[in-house]
Amino acid sequence: MLKLALAGNPNCGKTTLFNALTGSTAYVGNWPGVTVEKREGRYKKGGQPIDVVDLPGIYSLSPYSPEEVVSRNFILDERPDVIVNIVDATNLERNLYLTTQILEIGTPVVIALNMMDEVARRGDVIDAEALSKLLNVPVVEISALKAKGIHELMKTAREAASTPRKAESVLMSSPLAPAVEKARELLEMSGSSEPLFHAIKLLEGDELEVKNHADEAKLLAEVKKQYQSEIFGEDFEAYTADARYRYITEKLSKVQKKAERKEKLTRSDKIDKVLTSRVLGIPIFIVMMFAIFHLTFAEDFLYLNALYGVQVQGWETWWEAGSYVIDGGIPSPGVLLQSCLVWCTDSLSALASQGLANAPAWVASLICDGVLAGVFSVLSFLPQIALLFLFLSILEDSGYMARVAFIMDRIFRKFGLSGKSFLPLLMGFGCSVPAIMASRTLEHEKERQMTIYMTPWFSCTAKMPIYTAIAAAVFVGNDDLVVFGMYLLGIVCAIVGALLLRNTVFRGKTAPFIMELPAYHLPQAKSLFVHLWDKVKKYVVRAATIIAASTIIIWFISNFDWSYHMVGSIEDSIVHDIGSVVSWIFYPLGFALGEYGWVFVVAALTGLIAKEEVVSTLTVLGIAIGSLAEDAAEGTAIETLFAVSGITTPAVIAFMAFNLLAIPCFAAVGAARAELGKGRGFKGALLWWTASAYVVSMLIFLIGSYWWTVFIFAAIVAAATACIVLWNKGKLKLPKRRKAE
Ligand code: GDP
Ligand code: MG
Repeated sequence: MLKLALAGNPNCGKTTLFNALTGSTAYVGNWPGVTVEKREGRYKKGGQPIDVVDLPGIYSLSPYSPEEVVSRNFILDERPDVIVNIVDATNLERNLYLTTQILEIGTPVVIALNMMDEVARRGDVIDAEALSKLLNVPVVEISALKAKGIHELMKTAREAASTPRKAESVLMSSPLAPAVEKARELLEMSGSSEPLFHAIKLLEGDELEVKNHADEAKLLAEVKKQYQSEIFGEDFEAYTADARYRYITEKLSKVQKKAERKEKLTRSDKIDKVLTSRVLGIPIFIVMMFAIFHLTFAEDFLYLNALYGVQVQGWETWWEAGSYVIDGGIPSPGVLLQSCLVWCTDSLSALASQGLANAPAWVASLICDGVLAGVFSVLSFLPQIALLFLFLSILEDSGYMARVAFIMDRIFRKFGLSGKSFLPLLMGFGCSVPAIMASRTLEHEKERQMTIYMTPWFSCTAKMPIYTAIAAAVFVGNDDLVVFGMYLLGIVCAIVGALLLRNTVFRGKTAPFIMELPAYHLPQAKSLFVHLWDKVKKYVVRAATIIAASTIIIWFISNFDWSYHMVGSIEDSIVHDIGSVVSWIFYPLGFALGEYGWVFVVAALTGLIAKEEVVSTLTVLGIAIGSLAEDAAEGTAIETLFAVSGITTPAVIAFMAFNLLAIPCFAAVGAARAELGKGRGFKGALLWWTASAYVVSMLIFLIGSYWWTVFIFAAIVAAATACIVLWNKGKLKLPKRRKAE
């Protein structure tokens, strides 16, 4: 089958084109590193199917970061039949720099001039035919976003694939030509498959190349001496780069005519003046995030009572699911949608328990109190997750999130991270697994490791239900604030943690942050929907498989004793024994205290496998306890649990914080292991997550419960420390004892 590779700079639209061609749902992001692995799909229109490979974005074929190595190796070793070089036509010069290097490989190449819609909107013109003549390869104008010209592109690619192409280099029209020619001959004699490409890379002193062709590199050293330039001396890398850019500006740039711009600033520039301003940038971001959380999580979205002083009535009668709607205020769209879903699942559960009325008690219990309760409890958060992601995708698709990374870079730099590590971290809001993988784009090893350490603290979709369920049970009326607060706590911990590590074990350099800021554009409904669907599907599948399976286990160990007899009281169950045995470890964190403390311990432990487990475990155990406790309050299982357990507020927050910071889930641990290796980096990560979860939760509980005592204790410690420091500096001396005379 025909193999086609999509190559181009980061953000030139490769993934958008890939998705348009293959109908795939790959992640389109505004930043480098979103596509770290190559991704394959199939284009099926117009004749023979074509294998399409989406490569990570690269600026040149001399790799610095791992993702660039992936792209280069693919092009050189896997030998695609045709390379489609995507060029962001709004940024022609910079994009053509890579093109000049790709053309040095003897594979058929087609250039796709992407973003032509944006070029047209600006009133610019690009002469594709002239460009094609100059570069000696076909050039097709497309818009990946609007899916324009893409079939034409594939047709051209098919034709190109069957026409052999000779490698060419723009350096041949520079003073370097004789050196390149000599090097090429040398490599051709030694049987190299791509003599021109390797010759130039050797001349440039490309690290990978010199390592692989040590002998040739030595020979070439002689040649290089001969062709040193006055300006660049021995720096051939800069020399060739300069020659390429010279060619681009002198010859290739002539193909574009930019429209006269009445005002210097484009619309995007004007928006950016406000959104990325030094003073307003961050406050705007925080306000926007809070608005999103309010829309998604607030129980009292509009305080009608407060506004009009009237009691809004009729919700209950108007709306059958009225009992789920708090009277007096209108809940946020997120909560409203959730109410609808809960109403549906509750009806289903009721139906199931009716249908099972004649079945043996244990069957009814297994299905209703175990599987259905557990799975539905996890599923009930689906609307809010979908909504949160819809909002985040809109911000991302429009180009705003790229600006946030840019704003964050200014701050992150102070903590030894760069805007580049903010991007994987941001992906952590979705799921830690791809986020940990995306850290691969960071060049400096220490910065990369540290980013992996911090990624899980950007609460993923599976942690959200924990906060939301607990907020709804304990912090009624302040739901959105509590959930927002937990997200914020994660970020604060990440910043403090980064600062701590950066000044102790992870001292080192921070990579510079260079990023394209794409022009703002309206998000496309289709791509929003596609991402949403992807998230929703993954979540449902997880609920139906791993969560369902483990609720059965939790149900079993909470309803049976060690001799496999069904128990009358949860106190005799297996889970009670397990929880009680390990509870003491968690005593300092507060939530393990009290009669039902072990329930929270078990929930937190199941959370180490997958965070969705926390809610399903609390639900299943809550039901078991609720039906046993005499003073069981009405309401959902989790509300009942919190009501009967008498857990204190600091302990509740400590519990949420523990889940936020502890080992995220098995999948993320696997990803971290793949990225960090088996060695110290990985063990360090496990230790880091466990220790910080323990310490931070303990501090929250202790300070929250005994802040006065802690305050006095801290004052004593501070005073003692000050004394020791002063003593060491010799400023403090104990009065010397005089000898008795
Ligand atoms: P990649 O990094 O090369 O994979 O680029 P992406 O596919 O992630 O696209 C980067 C950004 O450019 C996204 O915000 C896209 O929506 C946008 N984009 C892609 N193709 C086009 C296009 O043809 N026109 C316009 N206006 N924007 C595009
Ligand atoms: Mg991409």
